[in-house]
Amino acid sequence: MPEIVPAPSRFRNPIGKYTIRRNMRCTSCGLCARLCPYGVHPRYDNYSRPIRPKDHRCIGFACQQNDFYCIARCPEKALTLRINPILETLGDYRWPAEMLIGHWHMAETGNLPVIDLEYDLGNSGGGFDKIRFRLPDPEAYLNLPDEQMDTSVDLNKRGDGRIEKTIFIPCYGGGMSFGSTALPVIVGRARAARRLNTLTCTGEGGYPLELVPYAEHVITQIATGLFGVREETILFAPVVEFKYAQGAKPGLGGHLLGDKVTPKVAAMRETVVGNALFSPFPFHSVYSVEDHKKHIDWVKAINPRALVSVKVSTPTDVDMVAVGSYYAGAHIVHLDGSYGGTGAAPDIAKKNIAMPIEYAIPKVHQFLQSEGVRDKICLIASGGIRSAMDVAKAIALGADGVVIGTAELVALECVRCGNCESGRGCARGIATTDSELGYMTSEQWTEHRIVNMYTAWRKQWCQTLRQCGLRSFRELVGRTDLLVHLDYLEEDERKKYVPAPNYKMVI
Ligand code: SF4
Ligand code: SF4
Repeated sequence: MPEIVPAPSRFRNPIGKYTIRRNMRCTSCGLCARLCPYGVHPRYDNYSRPIRPKDHRCIGFACQQNDFYCIARCPEKALTLRINPILETLGDYRWPAEMLIGHWHMAETGNLPVIDLEYDLGNSGGGFDKIRFRLPDPEAYLNLPDEQMDTSVDLNKRGDGRIEKTIFIPCYGGGMSFGSTALPVIVGRARAARRLNTLTCTGEGGYPLELVPYAEHVITQIATGLFGVREETILFAPVVEFKYAQGAKPGLGGHLLGDKVTPKVAAMRETVVGNALFSPFPFHSVYSVEDHKKHIDWVKAINPRALVSVKVSTPTDVDMVAVGSYYAGAHIVHLDGSYGGTGAAPDIAKKNIAMPIEYAIPKVHQFLQSEGVRDKICLIASGGIRSAMDVAKAIALGADGVVIGTAELVALECVRCGNCESGRGCARGIATTDSELGYMTSEQWTEHRIVNMYTAWRKQWCQTLRQCGLRSFRELVGRTDLLVHLDYLEEDERKKYVPAPNYKMVI
């Protein structure tokens, strides 16, 4: 993995699980600053008093057993520790507060949190939150270092003379368009993809020229609005993705509200400043698998080296769609299930229309196997895949790899407020085209945060593979025998697995 570059929060008071308060009894003796190995009490030269505690680094009540526990050691009893009350209001069922805070920690440090945070499981009551890897068999443990574990994925399985593209981690970045997301975020994601030897995707808003230096790691997306799609942007790309549908809003096209259509966005999309933009649904030139093949042939004729990916949502006949895409010439079939999407997708669509991805993956994997073409096409999944363990579960269900969208934004301190589309856009400077808000992030900081998050994820993947007795993700594909679903276990058996966290959530 690339080198970890620490990328601290942009905000003066980052949110953590615990808060520490210092009261007026503090005499500024400096003992807590000397004691705490996590740097919770920074004290700078020439400052007469310690500054506000960096309590997002605090390991909380687990510290009681340490002889450096500042709460007990403070001679004036000036410090108090409690759970941060903001946990009550932060996050949602799928991304609980601890999962957000855990991912911020990974993005800052490149390491898994030492704080007692549940960052693998949400509280959705279903899906990946109810699926677990079987309890490990100690006999099967594979004692190999991370460097010898293989987490790569081959994208071209057709052997048709087009580029042999292998990505180093089983994830690439989902499409977020110029217009929906700040330019430093778009370019920073591409820089991270280059360092990780994986890919990111333009989304449907065109191809900003700032991406050209990273072109070998950028997928050009062609969606129904054809915004900014030009021959040269197809020629830049190692992979061209047709977006037929999105799991977060099947039956609906993209939607960019007028406030975000700035002069630059309008120029890229060849439209009018301030006008809301809707992409039609579906491609009105594709009503059969033959039309679909013509689409793929068109891209292949323009760019003779690029791989072609087909992004579809998950209707009940998605297995037939996947086989049709294979015979039409696609290299990658990208299944996008429900529950993905940022604040730009309406909840009514996101939560109620498409098939959840954990059902779609094994359905498609098994159908491709029965049709004898599974080893000729790369199966990529997305839609509500939030954590390293979700990725591993999706692969065990039958995917070769996954596409990550929201988790990359969470790495940039997204709080899942769902306001991506409204007004000036994201108040945290991520999903915005506002000239002031958009510069709350930088390309470099975005790059480091995303690289750090995946570096921490890879540590979890390697440990999971070792516990399963496997050396590579290729061996994990379709190994549903390694998974259990809590709903189908006897009570005694179910108790052996970590329960889902049970926080008070915002609905
Ligand atoms: S140990 Fe107590 S008195 Fe000393 S600086 Fe820390 S909070 Fe203040
Ligand atoms: S923090 Fe920004 S990117 Fe995240 S949900 Fe809110 S508006 Fe969207």
